[in-house]
Amino acid sequence: MANLTTASGESSLQFMSLPPEIHLLVFRYLSFPWSIHLKLTSSYFNSLLPGLSHQDLLQAEKSRYATFRHLYACRCCLRLRSADQFARRMLERRRSRGGRDARKRFCVECGLTPRTESQEARYGRGAIIDIQGVLYVSESADGEGRERDFRGSGG
Ligand SMILES: [Zn+2]
Repeated sequence: MANLTTASGESSLQFMSLPPEIHLLVFRYLSFPWSIHLKLTSSYFNSLLPGLSHQDLLQAEKSRYATFRHLYACRCCLRLRSADQFARRMLERRRSRGGRDARKRFCVECGLTPRTESQEARYGRGAIIDIQGVLYVSESADGEGRERDFRGSGG
């Protein structure tokens, strides 16, 4: 970590020796992805600093960092995931980056996972999921999907 030195050069202060309250203040002023980079520097920061909320993730996905890497927020697992982890319709129109319903977007993995033990998954058995032009069918209750490419099937 960087040393902080006074203008007179008489004393220096280690960033790590600052109290946790100051570390939290620094974190609050960092924008994505720097906030997450700080969180990932050590187990101390990882446990001290809060994770990103869904609202934070929706802001983060609009950053140049996320746009360049084709990252999108999932409302269920609260992660930024790459575009190939989402059904195409989750990335289009209202659910596109910055779209009116972007907050409703969920990834395929979450869509295949039952919401509770008594509830079925969002993508039920037989659901056809278009992931980057390849169609998949959800086949079993345990969330396993089998690739089924419909291209060239004659319609
Ligand atoms: Zn997810």
